[in-house]
Amino acid sequence: MSVNLEKYNEIKKELGTTTLVAVSKTKPNEDIQELYALGQRDFGENYVQELVDKEAALPKDIRWHFIGHLQSNKVKYIAPFVYLIHGVDSFKLLQEINKQAVKQNRIIDCLLQVHIAQEETKFGMNETELEEALAGAAALPNVRVCGLMGMGSFSDDLEKVRGEFRFLKALFDKCSEWPVVGIEWAILSMGMSGDYAIAMEEGSTTVRIGSLLFGARTYKEKGI
Ligand SMILES: *Cc1c(COP(=O)(O)O)cnc(C)c1O
Repeated sequence: MSVNLEKYNEIKKELGTTTLVAVSKTKPNEDIQELYALGQRDFGENYVQELVDKEAALPKDIRWHFIGHLQSNKVKYIAPFVYLIHGVDSFKLLQEINKQAVKQNRIIDCLLQVHIAQEETKFGMNETELEEALAGAAALPNVRVCGLMGMGSFSDDLEKVRGEFRFLKALFDKCSEWPVVGIEWAILSMGMSGDYAIAMEEGSTTVRIGSLLFGARTYKEKGI
């Protein structure tokens, strides 16, 4: 058994009212079911095909979070059921999500991803792009932008990571004062296995934790 149920209970206690998204990418359905049996309902996935397969096979009351880099041409596959898309990193993608949401006759909740880490490889908007996307979102009736998402640097220097999270929280608060941002502005998704405690201290409302719960992922991840 690879799922660490003890750790799950420990983390749940530690998190209190902070939302835990259990990141189950690359992990089998049985692992998800083990946490489901303990009451976990929020699961995060990075790959469209994998998410579509899991959604079809697993209980319908799971809230599926898409946390990976989403390509516009794949939005249509997850639009019927996705609960929250964390990694919206362009206005163009937001427009496509709106288009697919209209077709599904639903409103899709989204977070805008901000680039806060030093690494070049991590996706996300800068502040100007963020402002433009927020302004544009007002004209997209079938997406609801609920907040921001960010990934800290992959670094042992946790004070550096803390600074990145603090920056994101400040931006999150600043956006909430924007006229176009409505009452749904409530989610700040930051913190992973290695830095969730710091993220919480810096005001995260939602953490995305994979390897602490499910064990290390064995194969190299594609493109994230
Ligand atoms: C994989 C992933 C996580 C979880 O990472 P762990 O270090 O295993 O907790 C969180 N967020 C994103 C965006 C990811 O791609």
